[in-house]
Amino acid sequence: MLNSGSSSVKYRLMSGNERLASGTIERIGEPGSPAADHETALKIVATELAEKGLGLDSPELVAIGHRVVHGGTTFTEPTLITEEVVRKVQELIPLAPLHNPANLAGIEVARRLRPDLPQVAVFDTAFHSTISPAAATYAIDREVAGRLRIRRYGFHGTSHAYVSREAALAVGRPAGNVIVLHLGNGASASAVSAGRCLDTSMGMTPLEGLVMGTRSGDLDPAVVLYLARTGGMSLDEIDTLLNRRGGMLGLCGDNDMRAVQERLADGDPDAELAFSVYCHRLRKYVGAYYAVLGTVDVIAFTGGVGENSPLVRLTALAGLEALGIAVDPGRNARGERLISTDDAAVKVAVIPTDEELEIARQTLEVISRTNRG
Ligand code: ADP
Repeated sequence: MLNSGSSSVKYRLMSGNERLASGTIERIGEPGSPAADHETALKIVATELAEKGLGLDSPELVAIGHRVVHGGTTFTEPTLITEEVVRKVQELIPLAPLHNPANLAGIEVARRLRPDLPQVAVFDTAFHSTISPAAATYAIDREVAGRLRIRRYGFHGTSHAYVSREAALAVGRPAGNVIVLHLGNGASASAVSAGRCLDTSMGMTPLEGLVMGTRSGDLDPAVVLYLARTGGMSLDEIDTLLNRRGGMLGLCGDNDMRAVQERLADGDPDAELAFSVYCHRLRKYVGAYYAVLGTVDVIAFTGGVGENSPLVRLTALAGLEALGIAVDPGRNARGERLISTDDAAVKVAVIPTDEELEIARQTLEVISRTNRG
């Protein structure tokens, strides 16, 4: 599978569930990078694979899966890539101006290298296409919203799909209710019932919802007006403030949770405030999604922070015993798969995400469906 981002290309070659090769080409287009553009990056991928005897020209290669960030309302499931699909993904560029062009560049080069091979687009938004109109609609003028395709789409969908399924299986409730907390550089929560997403915290763009490494998450929309009118900031400056200089970075100068926690241990007041804002927001979403679901079988932590920070997990869920949520400190510190106490009604799990595996699985599903049909 290929994940062509704006400045990197990640690849993974899979045979069933087994990883045969993987790698990342970073800093595309930056001075000193081996890759000036996506074309060169994919050629490096092809060379790296060939060196391992697994060339892109191998007859054993059955398909290439591509991560595509925004599928809008057009794509609600993984889709075999055709000219028409490429055109429709292009139409969605205004909704994801940084990501979709990079994803398309990867698709275009891969199709040129292997025109004979089926290629599949797996959309970050698709898993959230099941959220109800009540959850997807912003309360603004409907004509304006409709014309400009303004609604909540949600992101990180492959991760939420994978982790919600694994968490439900881990507690023996495959059709159960799951709250997924995906906490990486970007962060999002979702409420999933019997494999269907009912709500998610990212919205029209990945800016909404939880506090992230460099994104503010939820904010009174009038703050944007105030920054422009009273603060005299341009739209680009506001964009940077909220998307790239917000979140933990804006609050304390560090976007990496490891650094924040080290400062916390030294009693740094800025780090303390940042950490408390982060965990407070997380706790609010847990409460909100508990209410959306009615009952919760399992809360699943994933992503770099969710998988590795016992302190975030413990703090975000502290004091919720009345809701049946209780984290066992020992299990949590050891990072066990299940970290709730034995008698807690709601299980709490740590589930390492695997978006690449999920993309490979979904790609194969599309291929076998196409072959059958
Ligand atoms: P991405 O969203 O880019 O895929 P990850 O899911 O890998 O990112 O998460 C990266 C973040 O995970 C880092 O910025 C860091 O804050 C956090 N992280 C990684 N390891 C730890 C750790 N041991 N303790 C706390 N946070 C960690």
